[in-house]
Amino acid sequence: MVNHTPLMRQYFAIREQHSDAILLFQVGDFYELFFDDAIKASSFLGIALTKRGKANGKDIPLCGVPIHAINHYLTKLIRGGFKVALCDQMTKPQPGKVVERAVTQVFTPGTLTDSHLLDEKSPSYLLSFYPGKKQCGMVFTELLTAQLFATAIPFDSYRMLEAELARFSPDEILVPFGGGDSFASKFRQQGYVVSNVGEEPSPLRGDPSIQSFHAAHSKITQDERLKSSVRLECPAKFEERSMGVSRDTDGQDIVGPDVPALWIEKQFDRAILSRLSESHSMTNSLYLLYWYLKKNQQRALEQFKTINFYQPDDYLVLDAATQKNLEIVKNLHDGGRKNSLFFVVDKAITSMGSRTIKKWLQRPLVKKSVILQRQEMVAAIAKNIEAMQKLQELFGQLSDLERIVGRVALCRALLNDYLALKSSLKLVPDIKQVLEQYFLFQLSSAIQDKIRDFSPLVELLEVALDDDSLTKSIIKNGFDQELDRLRGLVENSQQAVLTLEQREIERTRISSLKIRYNNIAGYFIEVTKPNIKLVPENYIQQQTLVNRNRYVTQELKDLERDILRARNEINEVEKNAFERVKKEVERELTGLRSLAQALSYLDALLGFARVAYDNNYVAPIFHESRDIIIEQGRHPVVEIVFGSQFIPNNTNLTDQESIWILTGPNMGGKSTYLRQVALLCLMAQAGSLVPASAARLPILDRIFTRIGSGDNLAQGKSTFLVEMEETAAICSQATKNSLVILDEVGRGTSTFDGMAIAQAILEYLATQVQPRCLFATHYHELTLLKEHFSNIENYHMAIEKGKEGVLFLYKVICGVSEGSFGIEVAKLAGLPRTVVARAQEILLTLDQLEHQKDRAVFKPASVTGDASEVARLKSELASKNKQLSELESVSLDDLSPRQAFDLLWKIKEKG
Ligand code: ATP
Repeated sequence: MVNHTPLMRQYFAIREQHSDAILLFQVGDFYELFFDDAIKASSFLGIALTKRGKANGKDIPLCGVPIHAINHYLTKLIRGGFKVALCDQMTKPQPGKVVERAVTQVFTPGTLTDSHLLDEKSPSYLLSFYPGKKQCGMVFTELLTAQLFATAIPFDSYRMLEAELARFSPDEILVPFGGGDSFASKFRQQGYVVSNVGEEPSPLRGDPSIQSFHAAHSKITQDERLKSSVRLECPAKFEERSMGVSRDTDGQDIVGPDVPALWIEKQFDRAILSRLSESHSMTNSLYLLYWYLKKNQQRALEQFKTINFYQPDDYLVLDAATQKNLEIVKNLHDGGRKNSLFFVVDKAITSMGSRTIKKWLQRPLVKKSVILQRQEMVAAIAKNIEAMQKLQELFGQLSDLERIVGRVALCRALLNDYLALKSSLKLVPDIKQVLEQYFLFQLSSAIQDKIRDFSPLVELLEVALDDDSLTKSIIKNGFDQELDRLRGLVENSQQAVLTLEQREIERTRISSLKIRYNNIAGYFIEVTKPNIKLVPENYIQQQTLVNRNRYVTQELKDLERDILRARNEINEVEKNAFERVKKEVERELTGLRSLAQALSYLDALLGFARVAYDNNYVAPIFHESRDIIIEQGRHPVVEIVFGSQFIPNNTNLTDQESIWILTGPNMGGKSTYLRQVALLCLMAQAGSLVPASAARLPILDRIFTRIGSGDNLAQGKSTFLVEMEETAAICSQATKNSLVILDEVGRGTSTFDGMAIAQAILEYLATQVQPRCLFATHYHELTLLKEHFSNIENYHMAIEKGKEGVLFLYKVICGVSEGSFGIEVAKLAGLPRTVVARAQEILLTLDQLEHQKDRAVFKPASVTGDASEVARLKSELASKNKQLSELESVSLDDLSPRQAFDLLWKIKEKG
């Protein structure tokens, strides 16, 4: 340290406090990065890496980015998963002194608030993940809406964890240092940004487990505790492993009061505290959140007032594979939004509306009354095109209120946010009026109640804030008397100087006298050499030039002092006036949050209504039976591409036909149909109308899909293993109320293995689970199962065979398809003619061989009648085993011929 320059010493001191982030250190007009930060950032940003000075005899790597382009680089770094600490110069440079510097903002992917850093159509969640002994606590935080979603899942259910991760797609995951290493590495493998909270494990503390987090916790709490004279009980009785209990040097347990516990106690009501007291893991997740926000976004801590506790099955359960396969918010092709369900149904006008739609699609409901509430509103808007257009027009002028209000709450809002707030609030009465005029009785009064009148606030913002971008000021004239006076002084200074100049010309009779200004000398009176004799006595000489002299007078000095003071004061007074306005807005925060939520909700409904209107969707009817009955259903995404060419299809998954085995040629439309049915059910439970001419649906508890192949080589899993894992999860988790979509299960292994597995799964589903199931397959043998199970029916994709080859009709009809026509498709795909011809030849031979055998599935073990047969076989086996062990116990040396003969008879008699 001693050998370092004062600047570098300052750098190291700041660096130490932000060891987990890339430090951007302001040096003049640049942010500079040193050491490893410089190496990482220069290669990631594609900027030059240089060096500056030496540390321990080695060059110090350095790179820099200009301050004016910081947003561009920040966005890149943060989107690349880096955490960034921005360290600014806090004082003006003075010769011989080191400028004071401090970290003014820390950017981490899960705590962003600036609109240019966030994806406007995606909610940004920060997950606090705490692996407890039996359960893992998960708290998903959306900073800008101050919403917390908390749940606890079994410790060993990685599948459940994956499903929740897919549902929320957190931008950052917090795990306790040392306490969640195996999870942290899994999260990282899947591309999540993971942050450890707590101290790095120290070898002195022994077991580098959760204790390091303990230690961090107790260290701070004890310090803070000294400051706090209030003694509160901990909301929860924590186990030693949790963070509420630490041991002091005597090994005594110190039970609360600690800082995060105080925070929890302060923020949440009794019901929430009692709920938390039942879950150590959730409480500890909140602790993680507390420590992290305290460091990186402290203002946020005050804003949480409630927690949405949920169980994963409070929503329609969609495991991670299903969410992926159904391309709900991302396509399988490149992970982008294009051609996903979200892409098609997101017709919201504002980004907050889009985000709400996304949340609805990722968390479809299972509570009928709530689904119907949304559905009725969507249907009402879709039926009234005039009202829809009026609302769309109004929403078109609305800003992203939700995030603006979020920034206001976090003290991160800028002038533009307040201006946008003002213009958005101005629209509120008109929106309310449309609702009252058209939907008085249909629309939920909950929405209308939240859309309150904010005219006093609008008035304040109107008179206070300057919306003229040319003036570069924040506060309008007329709002603050002192500000007006100071501005008057500055604005009139030019005039005052001219008046003084005129007066001096008249008084001295020097017509060439001028009052001038420069940055070094300030204001002065300039008189040319020939007129010097006319200079009055009260002129104080400042400077002598070749042909002129410069003077000041007391009056000019006073004027100058007033002008300079006014200029400096203007900034201060304007800042204070702005703070007053901000305080007024903050006073309305609760109402503004409700308003933003109601408008996001309304815009999402509007989006659903628009897509329903444009594409002729209908409102599904939810019935008590488990039947899925869809008339003329269409795939919401594929139909957009195909337009009127898309062929609609019916679905009748009833008690009599609860499992459909779907065969058909390659490219016949099986996968499209399978996904279509799943998507329709999902859309219906999200509150949307559906692409069909009519639909009667149950409320499903889960949708499972096993579609396509997906290697997970990073986790060392082959395509087939992944396929079997997914299928296993379906067999164990699906219920009677689930929809199961299986596309070509068993395809990833040899024909016989695959077919055997596929048949066994079908039998299991048909007899044990009995969900609604669509099972697409190229194993035509499986269609024989219909003979053995009353709830299995065969359907196929219709085709027409002509001279030119196969014509796909994309119609789902009862019965079994004639073949897979794979070679036809291969021909279409442009496989060389000789290869196609040879394939046809081979197929012919294989077909002949096949016909010589009996085509049959194995007789299912569990069909009626066979159960008694199995029981008989089992008892026979048991008796044979008994006889064998009797035989083994006989000592042949002790047996006479007569005894041996008797024994033989006995065995024979028993059979
Ligand atoms: P494979 O067995 O080879 O996987 P598949 O039977 O699953 O094929 P899909 O992938 O569903 O067939 O569909 C193939 C193509 O057929 C789709 O990409 C789409 O272009 C078209 N298609 C599917 N369904 C329809 C439909 N109902 N109307 C019009 N075109 C359709």
